[in-house]
Amino acid sequence: MTPTVEYLEQKFDYYNQLCFEGQLIRPPFRLTRNVKTLGATRFHTRYHLFKGRQYYDLSIEITTRYDFPEDKLIEILVHEMIHYYILSHNWTDNTAHGQLFTAKMKELNSRFGLHITKQYRPDDNELIHRTGKWRTICILEFTDGKRGVMIPPQKYLSRAGKMVEQMEQDDRLHIAAVRWYTTNREIFRKFTPCRTRLHWALVDPTRLNDYLTDAKPIQIP
Ligand SMILES: [Zn+2]
Repeated sequence: MTPTVEYLEQKFDYYNQLCFEGQLIRPPFRLTRNVKTLGATRFHTRYHLFKGRQYYDLSIEITTRYDFPEDKLIEILVHEMIHYYILSHNWTDNTAHGQLFTAKMKELNSRFGLHITKQYRPDDNELIHRTGKWRTICILEFTDGKRGVMIPPQKYLSRAGKMVEQMEQDDRLHIAAVRWYTTNREIFRKFTPCRTRLHWALVDPTRLNDYLTDAKPIQIP
């Protein structure tokens, strides 16, 4: 699902009661189209003569770039709420996700069965659904049923294509078929692209069809 401001406000109120004893004042929410920063808590800093460092103008940003499962979206929101909670108290953590953050994160995870992490890592299903840049990929089908994924150098596709043809004819490699596709699915980000030599990674053949969701078969000349 993709969040709206009303949705975020509603969940903020709920988790404020559940996890923060209703102490937090609802901040402005902003929706972004960020690719890498899924959530962020923004603030300004000023120095008060007696109270020291103060944080003000706090707001929370959440990306609408992806169609997240709801539990993941909640984890991203509550993660930001921990930052917001710390800043609202004018506390300063020792690092971005330091002792204060970690202690609160662990407390909420154990008390409420949440899975908040310091750095959000999408799982395979999410990466299969996420779209990003287009890549040309090569799937190697081996005679024993194994499957390999190769991300050839995108600038040298025809050269790579010729080399793969030679590999196909090399009996020692036991390649039954070679298929080329273009895909914009982020799951292929997990594979190291080839640079100066061709290499591949074996993948679970039963998962490969999912990886190739909406991939377009192509010919490499
Ligand atoms: Zn964070």
